[in-house]
Amino acid sequence: MSAELELPDNVILTRMDQFVGWARSYSLWQYPFVTACCGMEFMSVSSSHYDTDRFGAAFPRFTPRQSDMLMVTGTITHKQAPILRRVWEQMCDPKYVIAVGACAISGGFYRNYATVQGCDRVIPVDVYIPGCPPRPEMIIDGIMKLQEKIRNQKQVY
Ligand code: SF4
Repeated sequence: MSAELELPDNVILTRMDQFVGWARSYSLWQYPFVTACCGMEFMSVSSSHYDTDRFGAAFPRFTPRQSDMLMVTGTITHKQAPILRRVWEQMCDPKYVIAVGACAISGGFYRNYATVQGCDRVIPVDVYIPGCPPRPEMIIDGIMKLQEKIRNQKQVY
């Protein structure tokens, strides 16, 4: 005999993991670690035209302790690498990292002694956004990819 559960229309059932993932994906507090020209394009993403508020990801925090989404935007030199690592370490878990642009991903065309050949040599990266610089639509797409990843991963409480 199957017992069907009858619920009122205004009651929604979900799993705790899904609910927390949904909430986290729409309340991202970004820390922009901007070092070079990709920052110009990144600024336009924050403008009203592109409106990242729609994704709950617009408001920058300039302290890593209040941020959970680190946007590495631009070239990382070996001198900056320990600073980037320290910023990442100061962020509370769960935390996410987006590498914005060719330089952050791979050093770009700066293949020299001074440049880190990708910020993932210093910190773990969740989403890579290619381009030199990436268009605002690509950055928004990257944020949406991160949201999808957060919603689908096992949540840590
Ligand atoms: S990827 Fe291109 S635009 Fe971005 S920081 Fe490097 S050189 Fe500048």
